Amino acid sequence: MNQDIFVVVEHLRGQVADISYIMLAAARDLAQATGGEVVAVLLGHNAQALASNLAANHVLYGDHSSLAEFTSDAYTQALAGLLSKEAPRAAFFGSTSIGSDVAGVLSARLGLPLVSSCVQIADGNLISQICGGKIMAESALSDEVTTLVTVIPGGYKPAQGQAQTSPAVTTFEVSIAAPRVSLKQYIEPEVADVDISAENVLIAVGRGIQTEDNLELAEELAELLGGVVCASRPVVDQGWLPTARMVGKSGKSVKPKLYLALGISGAPEHVEGMADAEMIIAINMDPDAPIFDIATYGAEIDLFDLIDPLLEALEGA
Ligand SMILES: Cc1cc2nc3c(=O)[nH]c(=O)nc-3n(C[C@H](O)[C@H](O)[C@H](O)COP(=O)(O)OP(=O)(O)OC[C@H]3O[C@@H](n4cnc5c(N)ncnc54)[C@H](O)[C@@H]3O)c2cc1C
Repeated sequence: MNQDIFVVVEHLRGQVADISYIMLAAARDLAQATGGEVVAVLLGHNAQALASNLAANHVLYGDHSSLAEFTSDAYTQALAGLLSKEAPRAAFFGSTSIGSDVAGVLSARLGLPLVSSCVQIADGNLISQICGGKIMAESALSDEVTTLVTVIPGGYKPAQGQAQTSPAVTTFEVSIAAPRVSLKQYIEPEVADVDISAENVLIAVGRGIQTEDNLELAEELAELLGGVVCASRPVVDQGWLPTARMVGKSGKSVKPKLYLALGISGAPEHVEGMADAEMIIAINMDPDAPIFDIATYGAEIDLFDLIDPLLEALEGA
């Protein structure tokens, strides 16, 4: 086994996903502790240009027509061969639907340990969230086999994993035997009333908002601040807001200038979609709510004690 940290680059329709850059930043911290290098693993077809700004010591690029679009089948076949041959100390995957799919299968197929929801590296160990972020776990890398890791946003910014100069790229041989799955088509979401991913100010409501009627308070705040209301999954699951307003793993990724989170706990699946907001203000009654770990400012307060005075202050401003 060598001491390198592999990062499996996630990309879709010609765009490298932010989670890839976040993983590269985390991998750099880990490689400093192991004494290895950060190696980005890029899979695709005619996709080598995507390597241009990856902050890695070098890039291993695997090209195959079956890798033109992501399928778990083709990715796991390509990666099983590479990981078995190269035996890096750790391999990072995004804690996304793509990364979790691939890492889980590889863990089972190759018999490798998998640490999920890693958010930070500390002294060469993996710090990860469990129970929706209420408990933090610290794991050491295996000394004997490659440790697979899924990474969630929150600990690093995408800019930390982007380079000004292109890394060296080496092509590796990919063998994919008769792929069993292929992509038929992308199904685009229905056109929404607003595109929350393009908004500068988002007032995000979570289960703490309690009733549908209370959404009106958030709407008033949004109007005064020139933004729109979005939500965590429970609010959308109740049917109080359309799916297009959901932030997170099953919803949209947003990067507003201001994200005001009202009664949102900060579960990893939610944080995945909003950790890169420029400023996060969290309002929550629970001092241990994980949202405070990533908030720029936080207030441990009942949101209903805050909204009325805030509306008054904004109206008078
Ligand atoms: C595969 C999968 C995908 C998922 N995808 C998503 C996704 O895309 N987006 C998403 O959001 N979730 C997603 N989830 C769900 C996610 O795990 C959490 O359950 C969800 O984010 C929790 O939403 P919440 O923070 O609103 O609710 P809760 O976790 O119940 O938190 C409510 C918070 O409100 C606070 N609160 C309550 N009353 C008040 C008050 N009066 N004033 C102030 N604070 C108050 C509480 O202290 C608590 O912290 C997914 C889960 C799975 C398994």
